[in-house]
Amino acid sequence: MKNHRVPNTIAGKSMFGNIDWTQLDYRKELKNNITTVDELKQYLPLSPEEEADLRKVIDIHPMNIPRYYLSLIDIENPEDPVRRLCVPDAQELVVAGAMGETTKDPYGDDKHNKGNGVLHKYDYTALVVTSEYCAMYCRHCFRKRMVGLPNDLTVKNFEKAAGYIARHPEITNAILSGGDPLMLPTNVLRKMLNALKDIEHLNHVRIGSRVPVSYPLRLFDDELIALLKEFNTEKTLFIPTHFNHAQEITPVSTEAVRRIRSTGVTVNNQAVLLAGVNDSVEALVDLMNGLLRIGVNPYYLYQCMPVTRVRHHFQVPLRRGVDIVDGARRYFDGYAKRFKYIIGHDIGKLEIYGRIGDKLVLKQLHARSGHEEEISRLLVRQLTESGGWLDDLPEVTL
Ligand code: SF4
Repeated sequence: MKNHRVPNTIAGKSMFGNIDWTQLDYRKELKNNITTVDELKQYLPLSPEEEADLRKVIDIHPMNIPRYYLSLIDIENPEDPVRRLCVPDAQELVVAGAMGETTKDPYGDDKHNKGNGVLHKYDYTALVVTSEYCAMYCRHCFRKRMVGLPNDLTVKNFEKAAGYIARHPEITNAILSGGDPLMLPTNVLRKMLNALKDIEHLNHVRIGSRVPVSYPLRLFDDELIALLKEFNTEKTLFIPTHFNHAQEITPVSTEAVRRIRSTGVTVNNQAVLLAGVNDSVEALVDLMNGLLRIGVNPYYLYQCMPVTRVRHHFQVPLRRGVDIVDGARRYFDGYAKRFKYIIGHDIGKLEIYGRIGDKLVLKQLHARSGHEEEISRLLVRQLTESGGWLDDLPEVTL
């Protein structure tokens, strides 16, 4: 098993030449994002059929790829995992395919929407949808129904959102999510964090961001780093991020993570198991070990949700998924092994423990408000050849 190593130069040679991404103004560089098929064609060869399909896909779900992220693609490799994560695919036009039915809201967010961008699913956690904008629109995104699209799910008045949290003493932690909160102007983010700072019953705050992966340039803004440091002295701050493949661990993302860690903020990783991206033992070993090497804690590996225009081409059947994860665990030290293989279901969060023969054993970690008796229960399901979601697997006993 090879050990992924992070190259030690920042200005790597790429399709953009020797750009030092750390020296660019992140606001100006955003204007160079690739958002049209004509722009994409300048960098990646596309057949006439691909081009026609891409135009149709982009009409439904916009494309947004930073030049930095595009530069990570190996253009010689048609199966390149980074390409799959950012370049639209004709399969997004298939609403329900080989893996079965799909939904726009697999995590049940809409049921727990308290208005003004506040989702309150578990008693102890409030999530605020701060924006529909991300530096990149990932093709596998489970919030595909809203990112980059007009919607009424984001916060309109953060003071009021903070007021909701303040009125609910059972809430012990708040998550700023989106879209990507770190793509908000620093002064806007400052106001949000300030509104949370004095809420006594909040133990910690999380800022969910893919910026360290897709647009690490943002983290070379000293004002943002100073804000993270300042807030973390008042209240504990975590940044859950989202590396999916070792190819995303570059000298630039490594330095971006180092800058976050210099503030005392802990960075945890929530990956998704994705067909054609990281669905092999080797890819997971490289990813988790690569994360530890740069100081990011492997935290969750999500089973891909049955999201409309995502499931059909990205979801891995659970039977294969559990075998890949168990295979990878053989190579991990204790720290790499700490991640949980998770189903983020409408009923709550479930950890996939493993399989006994052809039965899948899961444990519920979180349950919706009013269903607390479900927390910590064990579930056993019959594995099938193609079942990729809890609902696909019949209930059985051991
Ligand atoms: S950064 Fe996160 S929220 Fe934004 S498109 Fe990617 S996965 Fe979705």
